[in-house]
Amino acid sequence: KQLTVELGERSYPIWIGPGVIEQLPRLLEEAGIDSGRKLFIVTDEHVAPLYLDQTKSQLQDAGYMVYHSVVEAGEKAKSLAVYERVMTEALEAGLDRKSAFLALGGGVVGDLAGFAAATYMRGVAFVQIPTTLLAHDSSVGGKVAVNHPLGKNIIGAFHQPRLVAYDTEFLKTLPPREVAAGFAEVIKHGLIWDETFVTWLEQNAEGLQRFEHDLLQEALLRACSVKVAVVSEDEKERGLRAILNLGHTFGHAFEALCGYETLNHGEAVSIGMVAAAMLAERLGIASGISARTRHILEKYRLPVMLPHAMNADEIIEAMRRDKKGEGGKLVFVLPTAIGKVEIRKDVAEEPVREVLRALQEGG
Ligand code: NAD
Ligand code: ZN
Repeated sequence: KQLTVELGERSYPIWIGPGVIEQLPRLLEEAGIDSGRKLFIVTDEHVAPLYLDQTKSQLQDAGYMVYHSVVEAGEKAKSLAVYERVMTEALEAGLDRKSAFLALGGGVVGDLAGFAAATYMRGVAFVQIPTTLLAHDSSVGGKVAVNHPLGKNIIGAFHQPRLVAYDTEFLKTLPPREVAAGFAEVIKHGLIWDETFVTWLEQNAEGLQRFEHDLLQEALLRACSVKVAVVSEDEKERGLRAILNLGHTFGHAFEALCGYETLNHGEAVSIGMVAAAMLAERLGIASGISARTRHILEKYRLPVMLPHAMNADEIIEAMRRDKKGEGGKLVFVLPTAIGKVEIRKDVAEEPVREVLRALQEGG
């Protein structure tokens, strides 16, 4: 199944389904990347042993010259040092302006390879082959980046892929925590935009977690569609795009203060979305939504409470520093109903503290 991201000349297709990888040579041709060209696959040390050979041989059989670079797994790979190494390897392989970078992996590899593609000889073609559920999020929007010790995603660019080839077979080997974290962002796309999608996710929670392909295909397609709708209205991040941060003001603070072992990004966002719903209720702009928010997240084995006691002052301090905030104000994306959100700037501290207290005490 296919979805087109409409961006005028830079429009591109997202193909989602089992066995999409076998279509890759044809899809590349359709995207204007003809055989005979050099392709450079960036992948990580977990994904490489699982899917690199298969992907490479598909492409070599079709006449492409294929090179690759295997980076360490995890956020550490989004560094200038790893970026430089990838660039060196690409130069040594003799990539030119007509070559393409392919990201085979999750959001980390996507962001890194995308930034390499954006900057190699001032920009070459980029193709995403996402292997995590969460990467549905990073495959739309064109944001690519590496981290700096002083800030996450701080060195980056906008560079749209020519093609996204999402093979749902690849998702079967994902560790359970990564699966749950991916679903957190899928659910987020429902909560900000589309109540019928949320209902569908509630009804199909079991089948989706058994990785039934038709369900997985539909979930990813619908989640990507929401992001496409938001991003195509706001490509360079002025207003609307901020709603994609539902659960993220709280989530980033929880993530930063707990550490990745305790809470990964999706898990932190899960608790953050519950917090946002509770805050909306306390501010009187919504009613009866936190119970349903909690319920759907629990169905996907996501946390809805803080894992241990945390200092509210530290959390609030971290949220004031969040780069999306303006001048230290507390800015939140708050649900007004399931499937609808609004942005509230300058929220008072006291209701936020009440929510944080409740998140540690059992709601
Ligand atoms: P990730 O790429 O680190 O993948 C998570 C883990 O799963 C890694 O250990 C990886 O090796 C492993 N893995 C990947 N695919 C696998 C598979 N099929 N089988 C087994 N293991 C597999 O992380 P992620 O959660 O996919 O992405 C997170 C990153 O995405 C963050 O850096 C975040 O900043 C970025 N992101 C970017 C955007 C954007 O718009 N550009 C949006 C959201 C997130
Ligand atoms: Zn996120």
